[in-house]
Amino acid sequence: MKSQINKRLVGIAILAVLATVAGTTIIYYGLFQKRVRADLSVSAKLLRDTHYFESVNIDIYDIDLSTDIEELRVTWIAEDGTVLYDNDASAESLTNHNDRPEIQEAFTDGVGEAIRKSDTMNKNTFYYAVLLDNGTVLRVATDAQNLWAVFVSVAPIITLIILIIISMCVVISHLLTKQLLKPIEVMVSNLENADYESPYKELDPLSEMLRTQHTDILAAAKARQDFTANVSHELKTPLTAISGYAELLEGGMVGEEKQKHFHQEIRKNADRLIALINDIIKLSELDRVNGELAFEKIDLYDLAAECVNDLSVSAKVKEIYIAIEGEKGIVNGNRDLLRELIENLIQNAIRYNNPGGKVLVSVNIMDNYTCLIVKDNGIGIPAADQQRVFERFYRVDKSRSKATGGTGLGLAIVKHIVEIHDARIELDSAPGVGTTITVKF
Ligand code: ADP
Repeated sequence: MKSQINKRLVGIAILAVLATVAGTTIIYYGLFQKRVRADLSVSAKLLRDTHYFESVNIDIYDIDLSTDIEELRVTWIAEDGTVLYDNDASAESLTNHNDRPEIQEAFTDGVGEAIRKSDTMNKNTFYYAVLLDNGTVLRVATDAQNLWAVFVSVAPIITLIILIIISMCVVISHLLTKQLLKPIEVMVSNLENADYESPYKELDPLSEMLRTQHTDILAAAKARQDFTANVSHELKTPLTAISGYAELLEGGMVGEEKQKHFHQEIRKNADRLIALINDIIKLSELDRVNGELAFEKIDLYDLAAECVNDLSVSAKVKEIYIAIEGEKGIVNGNRDLLRELIENLIQNAIRYNNPGGKVLVSVNIMDNYTCLIVKDNGIGIPAADQQRVFERFYRVDKSRSKATGGTGLGLAIVKHIVEIHDARIELDSAPGVGTTITVKF
């Protein structure tokens, strides 16, 4: 940031200096040119008014202005353009001057002016010619720096100014960034302090976002820690049981009847482990999805009917009556995930039910939502636990959940799938009356 501000400040300063120098030089040069031309015209007119060049018997070889007026070149031209006299060169060596624009102009208009590139580098020659009464022309000329030369002559000063400004910019940007960053650093160190107000109004959205992200990150880290601890604990219990039963069997001191029971326990605990690991894998897969899931148009009623059919055997075993009703309800979703969702809800409705209980699955269109409703008249969920049942490993009645093959992850998976489908889940339950879970797509 510091070097960015530095670069920009230096850039702006250099541009400003160059623009100012260019502007003032151009304006100054315009005035300077005007001055040179005015001076030339005065000199030419003064020379003319002396009538010296019109004296009848003037001997050209007697004229000698060269020593007196070094910076002024004086040329005297006859009516036919022949150079009669020049204080800078011998007149004979000079070609006919009729082609010079200032001379032509003087012959026609009385006065003529021109500016030409000088023989000397970086200089221009300014010419001013006047017509004398005897028909000849008197021309005066002087060399003056051209615009580029003026620029070049001020270049060292400009460079010095730029260098001074660059050093000033470095210091200023250092102070500026320090001043700008200080409150931000204070803000960052106060992220956990909800009462802290950001130093600039413009930073409010950023500080709000940082604070939310910070809280989210902390919450996510905590959730991950909790989850790891829970997973370890959940895995440890069946593994300890398996190890214990295996040890007893190893000793060979158990009767046949007991042996059978131990084998069953080992099987049951191994199944639990598999169910747990499957659910953990599912959750971690759901955590990883980010939009690359295949979505398609799915008839929720058809899918729910398939699930009801698949689970009807396990319902029958528990003497629970299960049925489906409703209408066609098309949703945009992932078939495997939606099947998982419906199965989890129905399994819970069977698992937390009483013999002779009922499970009713329905698909309806209500208020523009396609709704999946799984209703049971089972044991229900106490109000205090209703918010928490969607948490990972949260169970109301741990022993019942475990005894019926629950992992405590079913509703967490359901919640996740609901979020992926931009749907909403509602729970309505009363202990002893039953539970109704509605998913609105
Ligand atoms: P589990 O594998 O233990 O069923 P879930 O995440 O599916 O885990 O459910 C969490 C807890 O919510 C369950 O342990 C149970 O106590 C309660 N629960 C879920 N569905 C129902 C239901 N239909 N009726 C009563 N209690 C339920």
